[in-house]
Amino acid sequence: MNETKFETAFYCIRCMSDSLHTVVYVNDILHKVTCQTCGRESVITPDLPKEVYIRYFDRILSKPSRITKEFKADLSHFLSSLPYRVLSKPYRTYREFKGIFKYVHKNDPPKEE
Ligand SMILES: [Zn+2]
Repeated sequence: MNETKFETAFYCIRCMSDSLHTVVYVNDILHKVTCQTCGRESVITPDLPKEVYIRYFDRILSKPSRITKEFKADLSHFLSSLPYRVLSKPYRTYREFKGIFKYVHKNDPPKEE
């Protein structure tokens, strides 16, 4: 999980003027923009885990077509023949997922029993 913040001036529709905004990127995905004057928050990518998931599979499926063909032909053989280097990647991505999930839900109110 890699959160990047920076500040820039945008036009805010609530302030009706240009004001300083905090821009938040999570794993290079534009997540949200917050007006520092009135606090108006625009969430650009509300479903971060889904976005990371989509990008992850895009990365896998853009591997050489031989792998993609094997993947389609025989999933279990494909999985068992993967080199360790590739196998270690889903685990890292799972950890990344968990981090992002926590990040997304960190502001949720505590559950009432
Ligand atoms: Zn504003």
